Amino acid sequence: MIKPLFIDGEWIKTNNTHQVFNKYSGELYSEISVADEKLVNQAVEAAVYAHKHVSFDPDSRGQVLRKVSSLLQENCEELAEIIANEGGKPIKDARNEVMRSASTFEIAAEEARRLVGEIIPNFNVQGRFLYTVKKPIGVVAAITPFNFPLNLVSHKLAPALAAGNPVILKPASDTATIAIKLCELLEIAGVPKGYLHCLVGSGSTVGEQLLQNERIAHYTFTGSPGVGKHIQKTIGLRKATLELGSNSATIVHEDADIEKAAAKLASMSFANAGQICISVQRIFVHNSIKEGFMNQFLAYISNIKVGDPLDPETNVGPMISSKEVERIEGWVNEAVDEGAVIMTGGKREGNIYYPTVLTNVSKGMKVFDEEVFAPVVSVIFYDTLEEAIDLVNDSKYGLQAGIYTSDLSLSYKLPYMLEVGGVVVNDTCCFRTDQMPYGGVKESGNGKEGPSYAIQELVETVTVVVNLEG
Ligand code: NDP
Repeated sequence: MIKPLFIDGEWIKTNNTHQVFNKYSGELYSEISVADEKLVNQAVEAAVYAHKHVSFDPDSRGQVLRKVSSLLQENCEELAEIIANEGGKPIKDARNEVMRSASTFEIAAEEARRLVGEIIPNFNVQGRFLYTVKKPIGVVAAITPFNFPLNLVSHKLAPALAAGNPVILKPASDTATIAIKLCELLEIAGVPKGYLHCLVGSGSTVGEQLLQNERIAHYTFTGSPGVGKHIQKTIGLRKATLELGSNSATIVHEDADIEKAAAKLASMSFANAGQICISVQRIFVHNSIKEGFMNQFLAYISNIKVGDPLDPETNVGPMISSKEVERIEGWVNEAVDEGAVIMTGGKREGNIYYPTVLTNVSKGMKVFDEEVFAPVVSVIFYDTLEEAIDLVNDSKYGLQAGIYTSDLSLSYKLPYMLEVGGVVVNDTCCFRTDQMPYGGVKESGNGKEGPSYAIQELVETVTVVVNLEG
């Protein structure tokens, strides 16, 4: 059955459709209507109308978002299966994503009631009372990637609605079935007509049409740096929150608990087949612990189960497309030609690329400089902490960094020394919990997510000056 789009409270089918495939078997999984320019304009008009004329007060916003959170939990298994089928994510990780989405909505529900202005101290001025109010910014366009097709959509929709804004979602075409399902739950939860629209279609058509529409006030985007830069360039003075890519690093220092570091790094380098923006891509290990670390790290990796994402034992499933597998195969082969050594992996089977560890990697190789976004990690050895910090910072990206060390005083110093948006001590760079401020520097983007931080970017602060003598 062809799945419809959601525009202005109506489910609309179109003749033009997009086919979504199971990423492991390659079989057709679902078929979804595709928006054209007329429907894009219709959604924007309805959202503008809702912003101006339809009330959605903070109490109602909280109730709707809390209800969505409950519905996500109640429907966890069905939603997880959709994610596993169309996204190739192992089912146990897919279940975790659904529960995290429920939490994202719950946090946003709480924030809906906390939107407050402030009183400004009135020194240097007589007879004036100054304060601020925060009001919804206007129509928000949310453009999302395939890799967390439910929770990253939740990180856009929940804060936009909590702030009182109508939102138009354009999900990644490859994983749009789960986005449609989430919109069904939002409708059941009672989101007012005009406050939610879901437009499926490629970035080059529907995405571009959204960027060109001047009635949209704010763009919230998660995806690749190339598209992020294009969005910023296209929308001119209008605002954007951009959550982009990275080649994130974790340091294993000489005083680290090697066993804990090896075990966690072995799982987080390959989680979701490495298709996580903070996936561990570069591991810097102190030369004095080189052998002990590598032995344990490779031993843990040998136990990783690769295969069908619907198998509850699977840790690493397929990548999103054969094109992406071919890309990473090419990058690894190129690195090997330039001197890199494959310690394990380096082979493919269908859309699965086996967990791969490289050593003897250096700057100038794509696997080091660019975002690999695949189950490939490089281990590099260093002598001093200063050298390791320089290596982490020697990147055009700056999302998160991790360090394993028993010297906790470093947790005070490293945030000032590392050029990243988040520092994780005694865990990997691939750590995120949904309430924390999350976002990068340099080419990893701008702005923070995490509902209470995202909301601040989605409201307009209006200053009010009252002349008490007037
Ligand atoms: P893409 O940038 O390819 O796509 C992301 C979204 O943008 C999709 O919905 C896509 O549509 C759309 N899009 C593509 N071109 C345009 C355009 N010209 N105008 C408007 N929209 C467009 O990213 P992926 O889906 O491949 O996701 C992987 C990337 O996301 C990685 O770089 C990863 O690091 C990053 N990411 C960042 C995170 C963070 O929080 N910092 C978290 C997760 C991922 P369609 O695909 O339908 O054509």
